[in-house]
Amino acid sequence: MTDVTVVGSIFMDLICYADRLPKPGETLGGTDFQTGYGGKGANQCIAAQRLGIKTAFVGKLGKDAYGKEYYENFLSEGVSVEGITLEDNVPTGVASIMVGTDTGENFIIIAEGATKLVTPSYVKEAGEALISSSKLVVCQLEIPHESSLTALRLAKQHGVPTIFNPAPAVSGLPKEIFQLCDHIILNETEAEIISGLEKIQDQLGLEQAIEKLKELGCTNIILTLGSDGALVWDNSRKSYERFQAPKVKAVDTTGAGDCFVGAYAACIARGDELSTAVRNAIANASDSVQRKGTQKSFPYKIEIFLIDC
Ligand code: ATP
Repeated sequence: MTDVTVVGSIFMDLICYADRLPKPGETLGGTDFQTGYGGKGANQCIAAQRLGIKTAFVGKLGKDAYGKEYYENFLSEGVSVEGITLEDNVPTGVASIMVGTDTGENFIIIAEGATKLVTPSYVKEAGEALISSSKLVVCQLEIPHESSLTALRLAKQHGVPTIFNPAPAVSGLPKEIFQLCDHIILNETEAEIISGLEKIQDQLGLEQAIEKLKELGCTNIILTLGSDGALVWDNSRKSYERFQAPKVKAVDTTGAGDCFVGAYAACIARGDELSTAVRNAIANASDSVQRKGTQKSFPYKIEIFLIDC
């Protein structure tokens, strides 16, 4: 039996660094180049797998050099790959990232490639058996939205609990998607877009956003707040709880949100209470920001340092 099945995106990150970002039309000499394994779905799956649970992934790669390399990455991490297809004549999805090291700002272009072909019918064909035999299903919004909806519907049909991370956020998603998720995990920007509230500035604003999410049909709501930890609406207790993050020296927060989602999923799948899952997710995500890289920075086992809050 699989603990967690993740249905989602796989992108190879191609990262070019230069002293500053180029202007339109300008060719600029770079200072460094790195590739990295990315895509929100894949990141969350790897973060969960590294905490000692069994994960499976449903998604697509191109049958090209990046696709073959990424497939090997899933295998070496121990993720079950039966829901992953390598497509002929389609490139693996890539995120082409330029970073100006003077300000740390970036330009990112995502070419979805094979990830675009993760259609609702593919999710059903390749994913239903995995979903139905899992303890938990996780999805996001980097595959066609109808496909995420299909994954959530299949999970519900089979009585499997779900986590939904509405990233990248868009407004106007069907209400059904919120009603189908047992846990929604989102950051402040995503909460603003989905709730329709302007710049959230304080605890009151955060609670107003959570109230809007409840109106949409969400039950357990986890709002991540970067270095400020998370604000949680626990539906079984009908109460808000604020969780602090430890003070750490953050060197790279890329993928912190994905690390949080993966760790939270691992904890819920192994039967943790919601509040314990949040504490452990914060511990893991806050650990990851102290190392460079995305998947590279995710910890390998849960380091439980419950926080004084
Ligand atoms: P990203 O887009 O960078 O992947 P996100 O915006 O989705 O992240 P955040 O709310 O920024 O998610 O961060 C998720 C979790 O990561 C936080 O709840 C916290 O545990 C940890 N975290 C992020 N930034 C910091 C930081 N500077 N110091 C400590 N912990 C952090």
